[in-house]
Amino acid sequence: MKKKTPLEQLSCTNCSVYNCKTHSSQFPGFCLTTKDNGDQPIADDIEEIKQHLQCDNQDAVIAKASAQVEGLFYGKLTRVEEIIEFAGRIGAKKIGIATCAGLINESKIFADILTAKGLEHYSAICKVGAIDKTEIGLSEEDKIRPGNYEAMCNPILQARILNYHQTDLNVVVGLCVGHDSLFIKYSDAIVTTLVTKDRITGHNPVAALYTAHSYYKRLVQEKQ
Ligand code: SF4
Repeated sequence: MKKKTPLEQLSCTNCSVYNCKTHSSQFPGFCLTTKDNGDQPIADDIEEIKQHLQCDNQDAVIAKASAQVEGLFYGKLTRVEEIIEFAGRIGAKKIGIATCAGLINESKIFADILTAKGLEHYSAICKVGAIDKTEIGLSEEDKIRPGNYEAMCNPILQARILNYHQTDLNVVVGLCVGHDSLFIKYSDAIVTTLVTKDRITGHNPVAALYTAHSYYKRLVQEKQ
C-alpha cells in the first residue's frame, strides 16, 4: 500500500487542482502559492520576483522572450525553431553548442540551421581536452571498455571555451546527466537544452514516464 505523505511534505506533485495555472477553483491547503516557507512569507517572494521582472534587466528580457515564444508559437514551432526565435528576442547573435560526441552529426545539422538563419555559432564537444578517465582518479573498471583509452567528458572545459568565445546563448545537445550540470554551472552565457540524452529511449526520456506503469514498471517498484 502506498504510504501517506505527511502534510508538510506535500507539494505540487501531490496536487490535482492546479489553480495556479487555471485560477478557476481553490488553492489546496498545502499550496505552494499560498504557504509560507518558515519565516519567509511566500507573498513577499511573489511580489519581489514580479517587481524584478517588471524592470529592465536580463532576467526580465529572458522571462518575457520565453513567455512570448510559448504564447505566440504554441504548438507551431519545433524546439529548434523556438531556440532560434528565443535567441532573436533576447538579442543573442552568437550561439554556443555544447555537444555530446555521440550527437556530433546532429550538432552539425543544428549548426547549419543556425547559419541559414543568420546566427553565428561556435561548438565544443564533450571529449575536448582529451583526458583519459584514469587521470582524474577513475579506475579502468569504471570505463565502458576497460583497458582502453577513454576520454572523460569535460563539461568545464566546454563551458570555458564557449566563455572565451563570448557566446550569447549556449545550447546543450545531449550532454550526459551530471555533465550537463557542470556545464550549466560553469557557462557564462545562459543555457537552454535542445537534446536531453537518454541512450535507451532515443533521447526521449519522457518515454520512461509514459510507460512507467507498463514496460518500465521497475521504475515504480519500491526499494526493498
Ligand atoms: S502551486 Fe498550488 S495549485 Fe499550483 S500545482 Fe502547486 S499546489 Fe497545486
